[in-house]
Amino acid sequence: MDLVLFGPPGAGKGTQAKRLTELLKVPQISTGDLMRAERGKGSAIGKKFDEYMSKGLLVPDELVLELLAQRLAEPDAKSGAIFDGYPRTVPQAKALDELLAKVGRKVDVVVSLEVKLEEMIERIVLRRSCEACGQIYHLRYNPPPSPDRCTCGGKLVQRPDDTEEVVRKRNEEYLSKTAPLLNYYGPKGLVRPVDGVGSLDEVTARVKAAASDGG
Ligand code: AMP
Repeated sequence: MDLVLFGPPGAGKGTQAKRLTELLKVPQISTGDLMRAERGKGSAIGKKFDEYMSKGLLVPDELVLELLAQRLAEPDAKSGAIFDGYPRTVPQAKALDELLAKVGRKVDVVVSLEVKLEEMIERIVLRRSCEACGQIYHLRYNPPPSPDRCTCGGKLVQRPDDTEEVVRKRNEEYLSKTAPLLNYYGPKGLVRPVDGVGSLDEVTARVKAAASDGG
């Protein structure tokens, strides 16, 4: 199954995508994670990504597409994927359709996680993630065993683009460039809106129900 997990920054896409991988037995493909990995390596392309990411701006489509195509070609994504943070523009959605069509696949369902701006900001500024395993925590709603340590023992860090100022910019990018994707997927009958507010388990149950509705 190919599932797009859609929603504004801080909607819980990454957290829910990780939970869904077990149910659907397909990997999470997060272009944000792939970019952070390149940035961590200090590669030339990683530095280029950072110029945009640190300002809360979208990375240009052609750079993202190359990253996505490489990841999608890996063996674990042979029978499907959960797309987290991709597509973010209409050209990216069209490119995804073309890539999937080449291997006889298509987007089966778009689960749209809905949360309000003020809730998003509170979620994001209290978000921490593990440098070692990628686990995501929220200091209030999903607290780690200690404020700077993951259960795996790894160090917890705050993403540099998780400040209120950058989040507001990311939200503007979302509203102007990403939200219009609902007009692209809507008429195809693929969008399943899901209330993103609630406990992690509640939201996961809603996402699972929406995903099976599309499968
Ligand atoms: P995320 O981890 O999905 O919140 O993404 C963090 C940042 O990476 C975004 O604010 C963008 O700067 C960049 N990014 C991630 N995915 C994409 C994408 N599909 N298109 C453009 N920029 C992206």
